[in-house]
Amino acid sequence: MAGANGLRAVLLGAPGSGKGTQAERLSAALGLPSISTGEMLRQAVADGSELGARVKSVMAAGELVADDLMAAVVRERLARPDAAAGFLLDGFPRTPAQAGTLDEILAEAGKAVDAVLLLEVPEHVLVERALARRRADDREEVVRERLRVYRQKTEPLVELYERRGLLRRVDGHRAIEQITASLIAALGRS
Ligand code: ADP
Repeated sequence: MAGANGLRAVLLGAPGSGKGTQAERLSAALGLPSISTGEMLRQAVADGSELGARVKSVMAAGELVADDLMAAVVRERLARPDAAAGFLLDGFPRTPAQAGTLDEILAEAGKAVDAVLLLEVPEHVLVERALARRRADDREEVVRERLRVYRQKTEPLVELYERRGLLRRVDGHRAIEQITASLIAALGRS
């Protein structure tokens, strides 16, 4: 494990697994920026930027934004000063190609992913949570499509990071505070 603030961690989990909530809580507890690609893209759409215009319909359908576009977004974000001492990534990587991109970006700086936290939540709970949340892109068929895309494109990352000895599984179907405590413990920070 890296030193006090040299932690580069990835949060992995299905849509509705609570990654965003836990990323914010971990960010506050550990003093590291939480970087959410979903938030960045939603902000781009809200701003009406060129990026927003390119991703709007893809996001609304529950599909993934193209890997090369995401690579550019994340490369730019990780180059900012606040990410130099470590970060929590929420929503990236989402495909094996993106995991390769992350490795490349970090390797260029002589760094690597230190830990990958997998939030495990039963499927029926994911659907219930997503429908209760009702974001603009949370219509039921879109929710189901996002879950399908997760299983197909993102779940292979679980095995990939497990093989690398980086994966830590945390039960995400508990009280928010308990989950945060387990995540901190899984990072060896408790
Ligand atoms: P959730 O937490 O509900 O899974 P996010 O807020 O992380 O959703 O992302 C919302 C949407 O933004 C995704 O459904 C996808 O269209 C797009 N998106 C976010 N991150 C990525 C990524 N790394 N690659 C491709 N698309 C992404």
